Amino acid sequence: MQIDRHCDFHMHTSYSDGTGSIEDMTEAAISVGLRQITITDHMPLPFATYYAMEREQIQTYRREISAAQRRYSNRLQIKMGLEMEYIETISPWIEEICGLGWDSLICSIHYLPGDGQMRLVNGSLTEFNALYELHGRDGHKLCRTYYETLQAGYATGLFNIAGHLDVINKYNSANIYFDEDSTWYRSLVDDTLESIKQQGMSLEINTGGFNHPKSQQYPNRWIIDRALAKRIPLVLSSDAHNPQSVGQHFNTTGSW
Ligand SMILES: [Zn+2]
Ligand SMILES: [Zn+2]
Repeated sequence: MQIDRHCDFHMHTSYSDGTGSIEDMTEAAISVGLRQITITDHMPLPFATYYAMEREQIQTYRREISAAQRRYSNRLQIKMGLEMEYIETISPWIEEICGLGWDSLICSIHYLPGDGQMRLVNGSLTEFNALYELHGRDGHKLCRTYYETLQAGYATGLFNIAGHLDVINKYNSANIYFDEDSTWYRSLVDDTLESIKQQGMSLEINTGGFNHPKSQQYPNRWIIDRALAKRIPLVLSSDAHNPQSVGQHFNTTGSW
């Protein structure tokens, strides 16, 4: 399958934790030769975070994207999206936001519940270690929680792209927390790919991972091969948080 390297399906602006405006990201995309981008800021959340969009900003965000769509219509296709969070306890909140109508909604997990509070899977190493401790230093248990939550998110049918699928491995260099070659891990991933397929979703190749400790895209190459075998559509995502990162590593990411 040929992946379109001229489309970037995932990026953040200053509406959430990015540093560029919608216009900055658009100009950057044009300058690196892209034909289409999707603006996907982090959805608002009903609790305090350092990265999510404010709930009151969502209509302004939508209007600003619409204005950019019109202004750049003959130079770049701009899609309106969000990077969603799947947290079962806030399902009505999530459904309401999805109901506003979007071109694209990425389903990602950043937070898992633990110890009465939400903890980031892909935040700092300290935070990941806290989550690991809360799962009894049991990597299998932690991965099961993560992938089963993802599967539950996909099963809602609300989303169309699976975001940074194996970001749980951000700090797992040399398999120090869990063995990604084990049968149990591969089977969790396989079940997760199966739910992506069942929902008719696409899987993103997230090149933002090249800036993380393992210096590689999410997901791992073997997962991409499994997705290809299952005929799951692939899309490229820079997960850019600044204009310089739009379309980053799109030409260095292998032969898919
Ligand atoms: Zn994310
Ligand atoms: Zn993102």
